[in-house]
Amino acid sequence: MPNTESSINPFETAKQQVDIVADLIGIDGGVREILKHPKRELTVNFPVKMDDGSVKVFTGHRVQYNMARGPTKGGIRYHPGVTLDEVRALAAWMTWKCAVVNIPYGGAKGGVVCDPKHMSKTELEHLTRRYASEIAGIIGPEIDIPAPDVYTDSQTMAWIMDTYSMQKGYSVPGVVTGKPLSLGGSEGRNEATGRGCAYVTREAAKDAGVRIKGGTVAVQGFGNAGSIAAKILYDEQGAKIIAASDSRGGIYKADGLNPHSVEEHKIKTGSVVGFPGAKAVSNEEVLEMKADVLIPAALENVITAKNADKIQAKIVSEAANGPTVPAADSVLHQKKIIVLPDILANAGGVTVSYFEWAQDIQGYYWPLNEVNSRLERVMVQSYNDVHKVAQERKVHHRTAAYVVAIQRVADAMRLRGMYP
Ligand code: GLU
Repeated sequence: MPNTESSINPFETAKQQVDIVADLIGIDGGVREILKHPKRELTVNFPVKMDDGSVKVFTGHRVQYNMARGPTKGGIRYHPGVTLDEVRALAAWMTWKCAVVNIPYGGAKGGVVCDPKHMSKTELEHLTRRYASEIAGIIGPEIDIPAPDVYTDSQTMAWIMDTYSMQKGYSVPGVVTGKPLSLGGSEGRNEATGRGCAYVTREAAKDAGVRIKGGTVAVQGFGNAGSIAAKILYDEQGAKIIAASDSRGGIYKADGLNPHSVEEHKIKTGSVVGFPGAKAVSNEEVLEMKADVLIPAALENVITAKNADKIQAKIVSEAANGPTVPAADSVLHQKKIIVLPDILANAGGVTVSYFEWAQDIQGYYWPLNEVNSRLERVMVQSYNDVHKVAQERKVHHRTAAYVVAIQRVADAMRLRGMYP
């Protein structure tokens, strides 16, 4: 990704975040240390037969960070830049994310080092099935439930569900979420991350006196989360989407883009770049654009100490995981920019994953309007919990979200006590 500070180790960031909050709420040495360590991690190196007949060895990880509040939950990403420390950080963030929206899960994450853009569908299927069998011993509906993340989707989940079910000898839909509807997926899961982001953005805008109807929105990373957040803000809240970008570059149109047409263009050409009638801009320009709302929706570390003072949005709503480094956070705070942190702003995805798992386990499926209204209730409640702590403690929303989340995880740990 352009503008990425790859030297920043995301797990160091994740641990710093725990320390800041532990200091603030007075969490003692032992519990603090546990919160800074992943509970269980598995690294697997496994062979995959490629289309040309050659065999390639891939490396994958699955990290289960903390299971005090329930089975662990979190996506699997396919990306050339995957590292164990990145997966650890993402697993920690899943722990806080599930706690902030108060769903009964711990956090986990998986990743495979690969370049899915240069692999065929057959190669991806072989890779997925082998990775799924390698981690099969530590996943399951009561243990750890994977889901889609960067460059994985409902087809990936279908292959994992099938591989796991073949090993068990019966169908286990609850082993993964984000599945296709016909395999026990949930209505609304695909758009849940973007929808949840749109709901919390709306709530924060109300509190901050920022207008969304007719207000301007820039989306850095027009993928699943970013494009859907844009469409919901446009369709349901009347926002003007003035800029969008992806890994190849960005586009800008002062009087607004139709996000549906931009999506069609991206499906046809592979990128938002070249969208008719829009001006070409860089990813950096999209981030630094004058807009009411900025939605970073791609990868980690795009808002850094280098560009934080150039951010002009009134609200930054983090649809991506970890887009803002801690050093940038304080700059944004000084500039009075409201940052809706990833663990709140993108928690709609895992919330509907929880609904999907609950439906799978009951074998009873809900209509779309029920899923969306339950999602809205969870997101509004979670935003209010976080906003209340932000006001009471006079801290920014990220710290407030961590206070809410870490307090809930620490309470669960204290109540369970230490074994043996
Ligand atoms: N990968 C998504 C996230 O980072 C969803 C995880 C899930 O649904 O379990 O929140």
